[in-house]
Amino acid sequence: MFTPAKIISLLITLILIGGFLLPDLPGARFQVSFLDIGQGDAIYIRTPDDYHAMIDSGPSMNVLERLSEVMPRYSRTLDLLIITHPHADHLNGFVEILKRYDVRKLMIVGTPSHNPYYKKILTLVDDVELIYARADRDIKLGSYVYIDIIWPEDWRIGDEFENKNDASIAVRVFGPGGSFMLSGDAEHDEEREMLESGFDLSAEIYKAGHHGSKTASGDEFLDAIGASIVVIQSGKDNDFGHPHKEALKNFMERGMVVRRNDKEGRVDFIY
Ligand SMILES: [Zn+2]
Repeated sequence: MFTPAKIISLLITLILIGGFLLPDLPGARFQVSFLDIGQGDAIYIRTPDDYHAMIDSGPSMNVLERLSEVMPRYSRTLDLLIITHPHADHLNGFVEILKRYDVRKLMIVGTPSHNPYYKKILTLVDDVELIYARADRDIKLGSYVYIDIIWPEDWRIGDEFENKNDASIAVRVFGPGGSFMLSGDAEHDEEREMLESGFDLSAEIYKAGHHGSKTASGDEFLDAIGASIVVIQSGKDNDFGHPHKEALKNFMERGMVVRRNDKEGRVDFIY
C-alpha cells in the first residue's frame, strides 16, 4: 500500500536519480578537456546545447582517438577549430580531423608558414568558413559558451613573426560554471601586448603558455588573469624540458592548483 509519505519518498528518489543521470544525457553540460596527445596542445570544448570545438590538435593523428573518448559518438560535427599558431605540435592533427569531421569554421591568425600540414589544412577548407582572428570578432558557441578573442587585437594576416609563438591566438572561454584563459604558446612579448591592450584577462583556469616554459606566464600576466588552477599541456619526458621548474615553482608559490597532462593524462573540467 502506497502511503503519501512513501509516494513522496519515491518521487524524491526518482528526482535524485534523474539528477545523477542528467549530466550523461546529450546537451547537458559544459566541458573543457585538455587532451593527452603527447608534447603539444589539444583542447576540446563541448557546450550544454551540444556544440563542439577544438583549440589546437597536437602533433599527430592520435588526436582522433583522444577526441573519440570525449566527443559523443552520434556527433560528427565540429563547429569551430582554432589553430593558435602554425607549429606542428598545435596543428598537425587537424589534417585528419578535417578529413573525418564536418567542420563548420576554422580560425587562424594568417601568418605565413612552411609547415606542410598547415599547407595541407588550407587545401581542406573548401566547405569551411575561414575566420581571421581579431579581438572584436568574438564567437558565440551555441547559446551558453562565449569565446572572447584577446589576441591579436587587430588583423595580422600575412604578417611574419620572428618568434611564431608570439603569433598565438589567445582567447578566454566562458561557459556556465567556468572560465578559461588559453594563450597557445604566447611568450613574454605577446603577454605584454595583451596587458597593454587593457582587455580584461581574468579567468578561473589558465592553460600555461608555451607548455609551462619559463619564457611564458610572466608575473604581471598571471596577476591579471588571477586564475586558481593552471593546466600544463606537455608530454611525458619531452625533449624541451617542459614544464620548466621555475614556472612550476612560481605557480605553486602563488597557491595555484597545478594540473598536468604528463602526470595525469587527460585533464577534464565538466560543469
Ligand atoms: Zn607548442
